[in-house]
This record gives sequence, structure tokens and C-alpha cells, in this order.
Amino acid sequence: MNEIFLLKLGEIVLKGQNKRQFENTLRQNIRRRMRHFGNFDVYLMQSTVYVEPMDEEADVDGAWEACHSIFGVVSICRCRPCAKDMDSIYQAVEEYLGEELDMAASFKVESKRSDKRFPLTSIGISQEIGGRLAEAHPNVAVDVHNPAYTVYVEVRDLSAYVHGPAEPGAGGLPTGVGGRAAVLLSGGIDSPVAAYMIAKRGVEIECVHFFSYPYTSEQAKAKVLELARLVTKYCGRMTVNIVGFTKIQEAIRDHCPEEYFTLVMRRFMMRISEQIARQDGCKCLVTGENLGQVASQTMEAMGVTGAVVELPVFMPLVGMDKEEIVTIARRIGTFETSTLPYEDCCTVFTPKHPKTKPTKRQVEEAESAFDVETLIAEAMENIEKVTIRYEDEPIL
Ligand code: ATP
Ligand code: MG
Repeated sequence: MNEIFLLKLGEIVLKGQNKRQFENTLRQNIRRRMRHFGNFDVYLMQSTVYVEPMDEEADVDGAWEACHSIFGVVSICRCRPCAKDMDSIYQAVEEYLGEELDMAASFKVESKRSDKRFPLTSIGISQEIGGRLAEAHPNVAVDVHNPAYTVYVEVRDLSAYVHGPAEPGAGGLPTGVGGRAAVLLSGGIDSPVAAYMIAKRGVEIECVHFFSYPYTSEQAKAKVLELARLVTKYCGRMTVNIVGFTKIQEAIRDHCPEEYFTLVMRRFMMRISEQIARQDGCKCLVTGENLGQVASQTMEAMGVTGAVVELPVFMPLVGMDKEEIVTIARRIGTFETSTLPYEDCCTVFTPKHPKTKPTKRQVEEAESAFDVETLIAEAMENIEKVTIRYEDEPIL
């Protein structure tokens, strides 16, 4: 094949004893991801995953695009493999990178020789290939300090590889090495970003969404499923648990002092999410909460909300500014969908003057008006589980 991808591993290189397990997981994840694009061989050597199309039918561009969103990979290079001799290397550079080189004002060659049997040193390779290129491209200056374009030559065990500048990988840890989490996913900007961030730490996720039909529309639900689909680009397939929440919200509206509406509602969400999490082997809950953003996100409110569950509640966005969150939302592609106007169940029964410094006792008192256990048991009976894959058609 005349093209191959080299995916360089990130932190996992450092992980001592777990290294082998991490590498195997990553290789499996990449293999699974590539399957969609045809016949690719995926193998791992020298802390690098090689992704090689095996026939002409393979969708190389689609696979390359997908490589940008695989956690556990720090950088990716699209290369031309060639024989390990200087003529073949030079010829590969000319054929594969010559046009891009011609468009640059200046260039240098950077080489790496991990096959120490190769007769030239890295510097020797760079000098010879650089010299030949300079002769063949007299309009492109050599600039070893600040080049506009860099040609890379890697002499590895199996073969030599030439490529242009590497592109950033998705970073993080391979999906599956960090356990499993249940993410409370709303239709807002924050929770999809929180889902992405926890997934980036190698965590498999599933989502829980509370849905209050007819106060919230089918479109609002579709929006959430589409947000989940956008996140699966990074974390692989997931399940979204859609929990019917209407009865609980009505009970809150009818029996709870208004200033505690949001807090009591959020405590119901946490309890139900914890039960779902336990059923599915999730070891933590994740929310998009952010200190100080709204009335229910003061320290006191978050304390009271988290107090009803035993599982740890992780909030990857807790210390970020909205702008930083929006930047990530745009980069991962959820922002546009998040800002579609369909209402969320939180906004349906919003109190005018929410309590910002509640105590546990006050909220427990407010909750004593209803049969919490029965309401939760009913909600647990009424869960729709939707499996989401990135390859599915867009849902909105
Ligand atoms: P987001 O942008 O994620 O909606 P937000 O800033 O609007 O967050 P809230 O509406 O107070 O904040 O919700 C805080 C967190 O509670 C959300 O980030 C999400 O994790 C969870 N949450 C809120 N509404 C729902 C819902 N309908 N279903 C599931 N989780 C929800
Ligand atoms: Mg919200």
C-alpha cells in the first residue's frame, strides 16, 4: 500500500505495568473504529500504532478523519512507506510531499532512526535528503531554524516512512481503561462537554436524560440523542437512558415550596441516575455543573444535591469559565446542536427566586411532602434505552 497512518501514543507510554493492557485496549479501539472504513490492518510496534489500508476499496480519507478522535493518541501522521535505502526515501519524499514542498517558502528535513542498523545517523539522513531536495527545488530555501515546512523521515523496523507535519490526536487515555460512568445529559451546552471530558480520561460512558413530555417536546428529546451521537464520535457507541420525569415534576410543582423546586428536582435526578449507574456497572455520576453559573450551582446547592447519592459525582467543568466551555463545545462539534432552541425540563418549572444557600435539613423538609421511594420506583420502570452509534444518521 502506498499510504499508512502512524498513530503515536500519549500518556500511556508512561504507564509502566499497565502499559500492555492500555496498548491492547487502544489497538482494539482503533481496529473497531477502522472497521467501518473497510479492510485495515492495525498493529502496534515501538509505541506507535500502524494503520494500513489492505485494499483499494478502503476509505482512506474517512479513516484518516476518524483517527483524529481516538483517545489515547497524541499525534497522527499520514505517511508514505518505502524501502530503507536513501534513493527510495528520496523518491518517496518527492512523490508524496514534492507539491507541498513547492508551495512553502522554506523547509528542513527532520529524521528519526529507530532502526539502529541503518547505516546513516538521523543527522546524516536529514543532510542527504535535505541536500537533494534543495537541489531539486531551488525556489524553496533551506531554513533549519524556522522552516515553513518540515519533511519528516522515520526509519523504523519494518520500513522507512516519510510524512509532512503531524496533526494533533485526540489526547487522553484509551476508551475503556478508566471504568464506566453515567453522565447526566441535558440539551444544554455544558453536559455534552462534561461527557466528552470524562470520556477523554479513558472512561466508557452511558447517559441519563430526564424527559418531561408534554412539557418538553419530542424535538427536545431528539436534540439530546443527537448530542449523544456527536459525543460517540470520541467515546464509541453508548446507551442513553431516557427517564420519564413528568410525574415527578408535577409532584414537585404541586407539593414543594417554589424556592426548592430545582433542588428537589435535581436530587431526584441524582437518585435515579445512581440506580441506573449501579445496574449498569458505572462507578460514578458526571454532571455539567459549574460553580457559580446559576442558582443551583452554588457550593451549598451542589452539596445538598450530591448528598443523596453514595457514588462520587464528578463535575469536569466545575472551575471553567463559560467561554472556555463554549470553545470546547465548538471544537468537538456539539455547540450548534446545544444552542437549538428546544426547551429542557429544567426550564419548565423554574422558580422565580431559587434558594441559593439551602441546608440539607430544609430540603429534606421540603421533600417530606412526597413519597420519594415510590416516585423513583415508578420512574425506574419507565426507562427507554436507546443505543447510539456515531455512524447512525443524524437524529435532528
Ligand atoms: P447544561 O448546559 O448541561 O444543561 P446547565 O448549566 O444548564 O447545564 P443545569 O440546567 O442547572 O445547568 O443542570 C446542571 C446539570 O444537571 C447539567 O449539566 C446536567 O448534567 C444535569 N441535567 C440538567 N437537566 C437535565 C436533564 N433534563 N436530564 C439529565 N441531566 C440533566
Ligand atoms: Mg441545562
